Amino acid sequence: QEKDYQFMLRTRSPGGFIPPQLYLALDRISEEYGNQTLRATTRQGFQLHGILKKNLKAAIAAIVQNMGSTLGACGDLNRNVMAPPAPYKNRRDYTLAWQYADNIADLLTPQTGAYYEIWLDGEKAISAQEDPAVVAARQRNGNGTIFQDKEEPIYGTHYMPRKFKCAVTVPGDNSVDLFSQDVSLVVITDEAGELQGFNVYAGGGMGRTHNKEETFARVADPIGYVSKDDVYDLVKAIVATQRDYGDRVNRRHARMKYLIHDWGVEKFRASVEGYFGKAIEPLKPLPPFKYEDYLGWHQQGDGNLFVGLSIQNGRVWDRDSLQLRTALREIVTRYNLPMRVTASQNIILYEIQPAWQREIQEILTRCGIQSETDIDPLERYSMACPALPTCGLAITESERILPSILDRVRAVLDKVGLSEEHFVIRMTGCPNGCARPYLAEMGFVGKSPDAYQLWLGADPNQTRLSRVYLEKLEIDNLEATLEPLFVYFKQEQASRPQRESFGDFCDRVGFEALRQFAASYATG
Ligand code: SF4
Repeated sequence: QEKDYQFMLRTRSPGGFIPPQLYLALDRISEEYGNQTLRATTRQGFQLHGILKKNLKAAIAAIVQNMGSTLGACGDLNRNVMAPPAPYKNRRDYTLAWQYADNIADLLTPQTGAYYEIWLDGEKAISAQEDPAVVAARQRNGNGTIFQDKEEPIYGTHYMPRKFKCAVTVPGDNSVDLFSQDVSLVVITDEAGELQGFNVYAGGGMGRTHNKEETFARVADPIGYVSKDDVYDLVKAIVATQRDYGDRVNRRHARMKYLIHDWGVEKFRASVEGYFGKAIEPLKPLPPFKYEDYLGWHQQGDGNLFVGLSIQNGRVWDRDSLQLRTALREIVTRYNLPMRVTASQNIILYEIQPAWQREIQEILTRCGIQSETDIDPLERYSMACPALPTCGLAITESERILPSILDRVRAVLDKVGLSEEHFVIRMTGCPNGCARPYLAEMGFVGKSPDAYQLWLGADPNQTRLSRVYLEKLEIDNLEATLEPLFVYFKQEQASRPQRESFGDFCDRVGFEALRQFAASYATG
């Protein structure tokens, strides 16, 4: 008799969009076939854990029949396309970011019918109308070098050498971790708000392997500016470059970041221009990028409201006094609200009429959902991957241990007199980096049972990578390791005219100074 294999399902949800019908279907599927929880992911989808093999077909069919999909959410092809989750209706750039996230997702969706044949007996249930410009762009053969095979006009006869990740955002908004993506597009509008084109960044990626220095986390490089009419052809040209020159022998060296690292940006850009058929223009100037999480109640710009809910490590469940799954089911059922999953594993409910605000807040309060001001900011700005027990690659705990780690970090901050301090903490159970720990001011990366690499020095807006401060931190030594760093940080801040973030401090003073201070602190 076959074993009871169980699977994880992940939705394809460009820009994190989950219509109400789909959310309620996911909630039912998790109840019927899963582990009675949903997990908001760091790529703005939902994961369902514990689906038995015998229930996979029914679960996927239910997702597709309720306006969802899992196509391309895993595998060596374009993954879920990210976009800022803020539903601002009076901001044309945000609307454009959503629209182009959808369109890039459609452009790079595999054209195979196998998905529908296998999971839906050939029925293509409900699918949104594709933008004709996207359909035409997919079929366009440019200078004759993009098509390799009739069935997959962009991917050719094989999919990509490795997974491929895209995001679309607006100037100044780094809610999507744009420097961690293979390709990021930044919407550029004119003064009237009309779309002109996109700044393009490429070559970011988080995954690495312990003790293999040839693998590393990398932030994306600026590639240039492309006009709106050419954007699909440029994205295709980048995909084609990675498709044809990415490493298909060594999977650990297969992400596009290694191609750009090995070639240098100039050679990469020249190769892309070869497929694109014209020169790429220089970047347009932009304001600095800031991390945004959109928690709490906000005007969405058309008279309606949205509310961002902090979901600890993305886990939607009912446990003890926290009845989060119940609250979301009740609210979505009663008010038929759409939601956006954020890249920080939170959820935004929107299209809320002002008259509903009080009732919705009452449900949230009754179900134990804390407001953003009641949450410790260490928790608010933290993320953890699932790791044990659900991820086969996990070396250490992550999601299950992070809450206690945050409490311990807070206790050390309190002890040294930094009770108001907070910074970005992220944890993963292995170096694959699903919760993007290398862009956190303090990153914990599972190294061996109960021990983590400690990464420090990224900035609070995720525009600079952190570096390894400690190769192996036995988690029992957390307090002894952090206390001297926080004392040093506090001493330095006393003489600085402007507040400095902890990550910026670690980067500025350097790890040698941190280590020397820690050593002298230990000897009293
Ligand atoms: Fe699994 Fe590693 Fe990703 Fe965590 S970072 S979910 S342990 S693969």
